[in-house]
Amino acid sequence: LPTVAIIGRPNVGKSTLFNRLVGKRLALVDDQPGVTRDRREGDGELLGLSFRLIDTAGFEDEDAASLPGRMRVQTEAAVREADVALFMIDARAGVTPLDEEVARWLRTSGTPIVLLANKAEGRAAEPGIHEAMAMGLGDPVPFSAEHGEGIVDLFEALRPHIEREDAAEGDDDDPEAPDAPLKLAVVGRPNAGKSTLINKILGQDRLITGPEAGITRDSIAIEWLWTDGEGNERPVRLIDTAGMRKRAKVQEKLEKLSVADALRAVDFAEVVVLLLDATKGLEAQDLKIADKVLQEGRALVIALNKWDVAENQSSLFNGVKGALEEGLAQVKGVPLLTVSAATGKGLDTLIRVAFETREAWSRRITTGQLNRWFERAIEANPPPAPGGKRIKPRYVTQAKTRPPSFILFGTRVDQLPKSYERYLVNSMRKEFDFGAVPVRLTMRPSK
Ligand code: GDP
Repeated sequence: LPTVAIIGRPNVGKSTLFNRLVGKRLALVDDQPGVTRDRREGDGELLGLSFRLIDTAGFEDEDAASLPGRMRVQTEAAVREADVALFMIDARAGVTPLDEEVARWLRTSGTPIVLLANKAEGRAAEPGIHEAMAMGLGDPVPFSAEHGEGIVDLFEALRPHIEREDAAEGDDDDPEAPDAPLKLAVVGRPNAGKSTLINKILGQDRLITGPEAGITRDSIAIEWLWTDGEGNERPVRLIDTAGMRKRAKVQEKLEKLSVADALRAVDFAEVVVLLLDATKGLEAQDLKIADKVLQEGRALVIALNKWDVAENQSSLFNGVKGALEEGLAQVKGVPLLTVSAATGKGLDTLIRVAFETREAWSRRITTGQLNRWFERAIEANPPPAPGGKRIKPRYVTQAKTRPPSFILFGTRVDQLPKSYERYLVNSMRKEFDFGAVPVRLTMRPSK
């Protein structure tokens, strides 16, 4: 995870911010001697951004003479580790000499800095905000850790530093680049035909790497090139668990994939193909896996295998389709394809749909497009007014992609009924062609 350090002199509000961002998640109090003695660390979360958070609190009882020295040691240690430093000042107190000194150290550190003017609620903070502008650290973000104001501005200021780090995490490729390998996992009950399917695909296409041990203790990755309809070769990285490797290497009987194994593979996949045995139909365990994949925010494609030997094809297909719509109530219209791993029929379509699904899963919608849609959507179906109190949704931004995640701001939006949330999500799906990828919408009521 990218690391964010909260820097600032005592009493500016660092701990309040730390607690707000870390929330109920366990905060580790580091009790090692030395510079890290007073530091707190935790997993922070802000409107969908995840990061490790370091709080350099703990000098509150320091005497004035030794404070700058100790603070400097700690601050420098934290900033060295951080991808971005949140430098907090007290807008009501204005910029103090100690703040100026901290700013001087920070400027030489090379770490990106976000200047946060805390306690910014009300007019008393205005002179302090103006002083902060003159510090040469960019425009301060007016904030109130106490009142939770300025969260969105903080989010906007942190996002570029955090998302870049996120993308680099554990992967050399920029996952949002269109030519990055499609990370695909094939899951399903034993005997659904997973190995047959993978071997068929690999027999047809050019293998570029693998099988490579890696990702988890029991998994392998195989990379190969798929040729699309326009003749472009596009890399696919297939993630699979131990059973496959045995088959590939020693041709011995497969270890069967359990639900737990499948879910481990899902962790590393962008798109998950759930393979069903058409001669067996859809069972409870399949729905459980599908549901879990969607809950994890992954894009899902379902393939009915052994179509070459399936009987009563149209009633079979409709039956499975209906059971999916009912069983996966939160996401309608998950792609359902028919394939034969044995003959290879439908496999090319399967990969094409997987690429298209990833594209939707990674899609970023501009704020302009979003809000044009949003105005129409709330006009066509105005939000209810429970107990006579009006709920006023104001605007929407996209917090992240993969899966597409949005934040709705406005008065009392946290009181919107689930049915209205579903209306918005479904309307957004149609407007922006998200298909059946999971779409998340978080409500942020304004105060
Ligand atoms: P896995 O446990 O999901 O990896 O399943 P396997 O790939 O080992 O396949 C289980 C059985 O189904 C094997 O006997 C395969 O030959 C057979 N099988 C797999 N795919 C097809 C298919 O498309 N058509 C037919 N007729 N048989 C298949």
